[in-house]
Amino acid sequence: MPPTTPGLHHVTGIAGDPQRNAEFYVETLGLRFVKQTVNHDDKYTYHFYFGDGEGTPGTNITFFPWGDRGRPGEFGAGQTRVTTYFILPESLDYWLDRLESNEIDVAGPTERFGETVIEFDDPDGITLALVASADAPDGQPWEASSIPATHQLRGFHSVTLAVNEIDPTANVLTEGLGYGFEAEEDGRHRYRSAAGGPGSIVDLVKTEQPRGQMGTGTVHHVAYKAEDTAEQEQWRDHLASQNLRVTEIIDRKYFHSIYFREPGGVLFEIATMGPGFTVDQNHDELGTELALPEWLADERNEIESRLPSFDNPVDAD
Ligand code: ZN
Repeated sequence: MPPTTPGLHHVTGIAGDPQRNAEFYVETLGLRFVKQTVNHDDKYTYHFYFGDGEGTPGTNITFFPWGDRGRPGEFGAGQTRVTTYFILPESLDYWLDRLESNEIDVAGPTERFGETVIEFDDPDGITLALVASADAPDGQPWEASSIPATHQLRGFHSVTLAVNEIDPTANVLTEGLGYGFEAEEDGRHRYRSAAGGPGSIVDLVKTEQPRGQMGTGTVHHVAYKAEDTAEQEQWRDHLASQNLRVTEIIDRKYFHSIYFREPGGVLFEIATMGPGFTVDQNHDELGTELALPEWLADERNEIESRLPSFDNPVDAD
């Protein structure tokens, strides 16, 4: 039996200004800044992780803030167009008020597959959505958030991927990752992982646009959960048998990862559940200081001097 994924692990986007990015996700959306590190493949660029109080897989949106050298991306096919979080139904009015008071334009509320959805963009143009659903998981609230625990984001509901043709990407979901077709509504094709539960939905929508261009304001990749590296080895064999080119297992410090590009153009990652964000910082210290993996520790002074200056919003109070 090939492995199947229970759903989304994290979503990684490209931001411009690191300060604006962190302030939006921490102060406006109330997420915890669970890790401040650097892009392992581009060590003079930050890598920020924002999640629930524990940085639980399935709640983390992460960014490479490219700063001044960032060029805006272009929307098109082969991209994650919307990243959707759960909120509780009683939190909808709270969020509408909060977004309005922050002068953020909101689309909706609209109904989709029987659930109420609102959409808005982050400061770089990455589209986020909130689904008000009684299925929202309890999650691990962040006590220091500016948002009361009840109303905090409850982790991922789904991602929406835009592709030129539905079938090739759908085949990877169903034959490669263990998803099944669930329903279609207004051109939105909904797939759900066999395991169900939070973050188990991927929606596919068809676009006539050419391939999008990576840059600020676009999502870089979407990651799915694997239990451990033994399971990742099974994934590598299984995905290779589907004619997908998969990377070696890469140590990302907080999890291990494999990557492949699905035929519709979206970069997929499969990441392990552990070891998690407390592997190099205490729970209470998560995100408060720049964390570097062992293999970059000797370069800390050089790295810090070349990173853009940044006032951690977590230190502000
Ligand atoms: Zn990733």
